[in-house]
Amino acid sequence: MEKVRLGRTNLYVNQLGWGGIPIQRVSEDEAVSVIQAVVDMGVDLLDTARGYTNSESRIGLALQTTDREVVLSSKSLVRTDRIEDEVRISLREMKAKKIYLYHLHNISRPEDYEKVMGPGGAYEGLMRMRDEGRIDFIGITSHSLDVLKRAVEDDHFDVIMACYSFLEPDADRKVFPLARAKDIGMISMKPFSGGVIEEPGPALRFVLAQPDIIPIPGSETLEKARANWEIFTQDHFLTRRDQSYIEALRRELDHQFCRRCDYCQPCPEKISIQHMMGLRYIVRRFGRSAEELDWFHSLIEKARNCTECGDCLKRCPYQLPIPEQIRKNLAWYDGLVKQG
Ligand code: SF4
Ligand code: SF4
Repeated sequence: MEKVRLGRTNLYVNQLGWGGIPIQRVSEDEAVSVIQAVVDMGVDLLDTARGYTNSESRIGLALQTTDREVVLSSKSLVRTDRIEDEVRISLREMKAKKIYLYHLHNISRPEDYEKVMGPGGAYEGLMRMRDEGRIDFIGITSHSLDVLKRAVEDDHFDVIMACYSFLEPDADRKVFPLARAKDIGMISMKPFSGGVIEEPGPALRFVLAQPDIIPIPGSETLEKARANWEIFTQDHFLTRRDQSYIEALRRELDHQFCRRCDYCQPCPEKISIQHMMGLRYIVRRFGRSAEELDWFHSLIEKARNCTECGDCLKRCPYQLPIPEQIRKNLAWYDGLVKQG
């Protein structure tokens, strides 16, 4: 299988990468054996984050048992130059001498972008880490295509990571052409739209059909990892059956699926609407380890303050029933906690 060049990084990797969210919800032994198998299959780009609880340390344990070269990618939510400490922790957790790609994680509001790029911001910290040889390339991940477009135009990043799937295809129009023109590497996060798309074939072939975009589907079982790899080793064009599936799912979810565009913001109660809309998928992907995360707690507590003012309803281009969905998702989550 011919390797793909990840833009100006000049790193060559297989077009199928791997994402480290789901392994948080299985035991350590299971996680380590899945990562070992994924690397043995030939996956050579492993993505994780400081925010994915034990994901980095599990990758570190698995990589101690192999000599295979992999491109490690991690990220941090810290917005100041204290991100340097985060890089040091990532290195320690993954038992690595160097992390090839380090991203500013989830920069989805213009004010976050200003902060990370300003004096004393996280970008400065990552540049120092790069000068010290602890990381090689700086990337940015965002759910906002407007922020990503600005990041690409400003041209400070070697890699970008955007949500891209057949349910969320807009990056292909708004961001990828610009990134391509500047030779910036492109990674597709959430190729299954965070677990909404259940059939891996159409989901992966949709992304893989673009030869310079690297999807990083996560997998916590050997079966899922093998299924993804098998799809990758076959032809990447969409079959007629794929196209019917895609059209049917797009029709079915048209007025239900949150595209994470944030057009509904700002919420006066500072509720992260897109995360509350996808709460069930977050819990499904992270498992109960989500409860250990500060941002998850804050998400739930802020959502309880929804006044049902309806401001967001006027702004959502897809007419999604936001306050009603937030209420239902909170009730569902509270039921889950009660069950233990
Ligand atoms: S209805 Fe709730 S989520 Fe929507 S803007 Fe008002 S407080 Fe925020
Ligand atoms: S609720 Fe609507 S406007 Fe808000 S992020 Fe989702 S799709 Fe976009």
